Amino acid sequence: MEMNLCSIARQFSDEAAAWEAIETMLWPEGPVCPHCGDVGRAYFIKARSGQRTTKAGNVTYRRLWKCKACRKPFSVLVGTIFEDTKVPLSKWLLAIFMMVSAKNGVAAFELHRTLGVTNTTAWHMFHRIREAMKQSPVADMLRGTIVADETFHGPNPGRMNAKRRQMYEFGRETSGTHADKVPVLSLISAESGEVRSRVVADVTGHTLRKAMAEQVDMAASHLHTDEWRAYRAIGKEFISHETVNHREGQYVHNGASTNKAESYFSQLKRSLDGTHHHVSTKHLNRYLEEFDYRYSTCKLSDSARMEKLMSQTSGRRLTYRALVDR
Ligand SMILES: [Zn+2]
Repeated sequence: MEMNLCSIARQFSDEAAAWEAIETMLWPEGPVCPHCGDVGRAYFIKARSGQRTTKAGNVTYRRLWKCKACRKPFSVLVGTIFEDTKVPLSKWLLAIFMMVSAKNGVAAFELHRTLGVTNTTAWHMFHRIREAMKQSPVADMLRGTIVADETFHGPNPGRMNAKRRQMYEFGRETSGTHADKVPVLSLISAESGEVRSRVVADVTGHTLRKAMAEQVDMAASHLHTDEWRAYRAIGKEFISHETVNHREGQYVHNGASTNKAESYFSQLKRSLDGTHHHVSTKHLNRYLEEFDYRYSTCKLSDSARMEKLMSQTSGRRLTYRALVDR
């Protein structure tokens, strides 16, 4: 199905259209039975009275199928991030569209206001959508020219009122530079533009090497970094290692450049400070996944990015319990 803004817009207001759109996106080969895996042979179960109602008597647009092979009924939502949701699918589609198309991300209260759902519901939808943005656990190792850089996320004294800044600076004196900041390592493929970021415990060579070895085929790649000394030993495990010296205002050296990382970090910082004022350390990795997803797919159109996200909504169900327990 060719998606454009007009066809997507209809799915945002028409619940029946939203159901059919999700079936088309998740089942390009026809209905897939979540119980036995049979493809394309299920038949549609029509509602007896023409309209399906919930136990409470409300009209529902839920579409049910019955598997020809195992005889079990199912809907397209089984095993997806939408399973068991009480929120209309048209609102889910709008929320996803907002999240994949807004360059700096969308705040939960914006979702709450636009969709007319409660704050808690908006927050829960947010995190489920982020779960779908997460890089697949079996994703390939990055290979080629890899730009590595770190940034620190934490309180910004410039935005605090005098009293809080005083308390903050007092605490900082005893805890030392960066002690209250969380280091983030980003790895960017210069060729594909794919980004992978994660929170790291510190920026020592040992920690950075471990994080990089898990995601990069080092022996088959070239490394570009700034002159942070922790990269010196790691760089020897790559085919080559080029550095640029930021302190001397240098951003490109011998073809090596961390410009991509700089632009990624400036966008990340803008969004964390501007859109999401308080991102707790606990949820920072999820925000990073969201940013990585948008940055890595920035060459796609909004509708292509939305279709890609929809294909990742399956098998990633996240319950409220699992969220608050983290
Ligand atoms: Zn089946």
